[in-house]
Amino acid sequence: MTVTRFAPSPTGQLHVGNIFTAVQNFLLARRDGGRFLLRMDDTDQVRSTPAFAQGIRDDLAWLGLIPDAEVRQSDRFTAYDAAMDRLIAAGRLYPCFESSEELDLKRKVQLSRGLPPVYDRSALKLSDDDRRQLLANGAKPHWRFKLEPGLVCWRDLIRGDCQVDPASLSDPVVRRADGNWLYMLPSVIDDIDMEITHVVRGEDHVTNSGVQLQMFAALGAEPPQLGHFGLLTAIDGALSKRLGSTGVAEFRDSGIEPIALVTLLARIGTSAAIEPVVSLNPLIAAFDLAHLGRSHPRFDPADLTHLNARIVHNLPFEAVVDRLPDNMSAAAWMAIRPNLTTVSEAHDWWHVVAGPVAANHDPADRDFLNAAHRALSDLPWDADIWRSLTDALKTSTDRKGKALFLPLRRALTGRDHGPEMAALLPLVGRDQALARLNP
Ligand code: GLU
Repeated sequence: MTVTRFAPSPTGQLHVGNIFTAVQNFLLARRDGGRFLLRMDDTDQVRSTPAFAQGIRDDLAWLGLIPDAEVRQSDRFTAYDAAMDRLIAAGRLYPCFESSEELDLKRKVQLSRGLPPVYDRSALKLSDDDRRQLLANGAKPHWRFKLEPGLVCWRDLIRGDCQVDPASLSDPVVRRADGNWLYMLPSVIDDIDMEITHVVRGEDHVTNSGVQLQMFAALGAEPPQLGHFGLLTAIDGALSKRLGSTGVAEFRDSGIEPIALVTLLARIGTSAAIEPVVSLNPLIAAFDLAHLGRSHPRFDPADLTHLNARIVHNLPFEAVVDRLPDNMSAAAWMAIRPNLTTVSEAHDWWHVVAGPVAANHDPADRDFLNAAHRALSDLPWDADIWRSLTDALKTSTDRKGKALFLPLRRALTGRDHGPEMAALLPLVGRDQALARLNP
């Protein structure tokens, strides 16, 4: 069974880049009838907060990306300790005692000699006595994972053949001197224990994958399949601060439907058309990781607004009724929705129907509007009233086209543009229409 995970650190709000990762993992799991897990990478107990964790849950719920289960790394320290013991016994984790100043200095010296700043493994040269002495003096070790030589190769689900050369890397620190775990090893232990089958994440993790594949092997586990997509960029280059950096709230507050954001992120960077949908099902059915590539999809807020409008134009009354003015009818929704970019704009257009409408009469149209008032009083009021009114006026006045329609629209709605008059006029009602023609 396919099992994927979305593994944010609750040290901030989700931004559009994280949401992109969540969307890929959610759709992959759902398409395969598998499981989608939320994993809180909260080993950094200073920067992780319950409020950020709750924000992430709320954001996923709003987006409709509901996880099947949630795991917190902070609940799993016993499992990490057990794996650590195994790796120490196997000679793959070793204690190091250098201070960060010493390490900085080593790096500077290497760089000045034109060497890559790779950790020199001095700690492996310590004798047992040296180590005992250091510990007796109160030194607290940090722990590194010992990389093995030899290219690490895998067939990436998105990038194809990949390889990482451990010779160019320092043995990664997996646990700090204060006992805090860094991301790299706990993630592997979790992926093993949670039987994750696919790890789908940004290309910024490609090098980590080389290291983590060695960790899977050191723990005697089959690695999951790996897929690394190109990171989203903004229209003006890297994803900037202002772009969704304040989280999902920014999208929600600007009237973006969750399905619009998920649809755009499901299709962006693929050759699939960005079509409006009203449920996740078509996105799930059509999902294919192979549609993503190495290129960096460009996230353009204008695309999102445009897609949102197209989605709103298809939303049924039942889907939005809770967000509409109290007495707005289904017919009014149908009349108004083609003019909306966001659902909340319906409130504005509803004033056009319910009134009051500010008089917007050009004195030059006075006689024409009086004629319209007379015609409307005489006509039977029915669903076709706009057509019968304009037909009658074409005959009784010399006006046609814009000269006929615009003064009527202005008088009846107070505006120059808006929803189809044929749909609006029956909603405005006879008495109000007569009053607006002759204020
Ligand atoms: N917490 C890690 C991150 O947000 C997770 C990476 C992963 O998917 O393994 O970068």
